[in-house]
Amino acid sequence: MNLTLKIWRQPNAHTRGQLVTYSISGVSPDMSFLEMLDVLNQQLIHKGEEPVAFLSDCREGICGSCGLFINGRAHGPLSGTATCQLHMRAFKDGDTIVIEPWRAKGFPVIRDLVVDRSAFDRIIQAGGYISVNTGSAPDANAILIPKSAADAAFDAAACIGCGACVATCKNASAMLFVAAKVSHLAYLPQGQPERRRRVLNMVAAMDREGFGSCTLTGACEVECPKKISISHIVRLNREYLSAVVSDEAD
Ligand code: SF4
Repeated sequence: MNLTLKIWRQPNAHTRGQLVTYSISGVSPDMSFLEMLDVLNQQLIHKGEEPVAFLSDCREGICGSCGLFINGRAHGPLSGTATCQLHMRAFKDGDTIVIEPWRAKGFPVIRDLVVDRSAFDRIIQAGGYISVNTGSAPDANAILIPKSAADAAFDAAACIGCGACVATCKNASAMLFVAAKVSHLAYLPQGQPERRRRVLNMVAAMDREGFGSCTLTGACEVECPKKISISHIVRLNREYLSAVVSDEAD
């Protein structure tokens, strides 16, 4: 395949960026999108030019670090697919592909396609950890959990923290991410201690980081590579309201 790539190049957070056009040939349809960028970078290094900075780690759709905006869609054209699991067969020979970083105030650009997603880490940190003694692993298994609750918690736990929900939201809202993290523990008996404090702290941290409010458009659910349901946002709102009106201490 021969392709034209228009890639966002930005030396650092304080310098203006721009789309730079590259031609690439000999791309196999079986290459992953990141392997195609690896090939481009080999060509750039060979020519003495700066390679394109992008993030990747597991390349198995687990770590969430590979997120790119591809032809105007978070993680590219396929649904339920992280950038690292997108293959070049999703494109046609001769295509032009526009590749940009996540664009959100909470995710400042570090360089080229790399953004700083540490805001997500600070939200998780604000949620704290379960400080009560839940016992050893066999003790945890002795606590019976309804199958529906276990399934819902597991679905929420599938969030990989990639930030596509933020990037695709016209308000750069992090509600789907926070909702997944809050739901994950709220469904389980082990998550009940400190439940109110957790949701209040995580929502406050989300606001501090500059993420916008939920727009109710559902774009986050459509673009989420792990298909996290927007119903978790309903649960987040319920958890938050109940924590605000409750006078019980955690
Ligand atoms: S909710 Fe989905 S899109 Fe948002 S961070 Fe988690 S996995 Fe990524």
